[in-house]
Amino acid sequence: MLQVKARMPKAKRPLTHLTFDKFSNLLERIVADPFSKLEGYIVNGNLVETKDINWLKCFLATRTTKNGLRSLVEGDSFRVHQKIYSSITNARKLSPGTSCNLCLTENLLYCPTKGLCSHFRNCKYHNSAQKQFRPCPSQICDAFWKEIGFFHRYGKPSWKNTKADQWCTNHWQVAKCFMPLDGYQDVSSFDDTDFNGIINFMINCTESQRSLSFNIANQPNALLEARNIVRSIRHSPDLMVTDDYLASFFSTLNLLLTDSKYLASDSSAKEAVIKLNQLEKDANRTPAEYVREYLQEVRETKKVITLELLQFCKATVKFHSSH
Ligand SMILES: [Zn+2]
Ligand SMILES: [Zn+2]
Repeated sequence: MLQVKARMPKAKRPLTHLTFDKFSNLLERIVADPFSKLEGYIVNGNLVETKDINWLKCFLATRTTKNGLRSLVEGDSFRVHQKIYSSITNARKLSPGTSCNLCLTENLLYCPTKGLCSHFRNCKYHNSAQKQFRPCPSQICDAFWKEIGFFHRYGKPSWKNTKADQWCTNHWQVAKCFMPLDGYQDVSSFDDTDFNGIINFMINCTESQRSLSFNIANQPNALLEARNIVRSIRHSPDLMVTDDYLASFFSTLNLLLTDSKYLASDSSAKEAVIKLNQLEKDANRTPAEYVREYLQEVRETKKVITLELLQFCKATVKFHSSH
């Protein structure tokens, strides 16, 4: 954090009352502090203006939307895993249940692999004798590697995220290949994964096309719009969100959650739509109540939120150092 502050010139600090420094301070407390103290700090502190509440609403709406996508993404990721696994066991005539847990992701990737490692002689990725490229002894994992590539819309799975020794048994290790390159190495379930990981799985894994009414390859579409609008909040230089922006934020997420092919009749998506509606319309709650709800989320998913906040801070620093 000290380093982060040092990189940000004084004159360029945002002139909102919740400055980047204060936000960093909150982040430090979230990481280090017992939550009881933090709550008092925020509630009695500066997070009380409407525009801050709008930001908190966007934050909560993003979490709600992620939960609304649960059964679609769990279903699609499970199905893609099953398809790959059974196509391999069928092709190799292996008995059902045959698996390999001996191959590390490093073992399955050539050195150098573009985007991952570049120096064959002194590779930081293939950095021990156990991590050198070699074929799978059961001829399963290298076939998995190939199949995952076929299911990736752009043919570029994020190998850095995944643990190949769990491919045969854990569908989420396969799902993570379709998520962005940074920040997903340590997540192991839907609950651990943030909205950005979930939405990128849907965009990048061709299996999701079966669950959506529109063609994901055609732009713009509800999926890309949802990713963009959430990204713009995460990357915004301050925490100010106008009422107009808030309205388009909610309508964009709503559009995705009510897609006719699957989500419109799915119970977790329907529940999320109701919650979004309440969140948007609710004028009776005090700012402190919003903050409490936010903190409740922080408590429940401490790890994920911390990760989201860290990404947010990183993006903010980038913004300020390039302007
Ligand atoms: Zn290498
Ligand atoms: Zn293997």
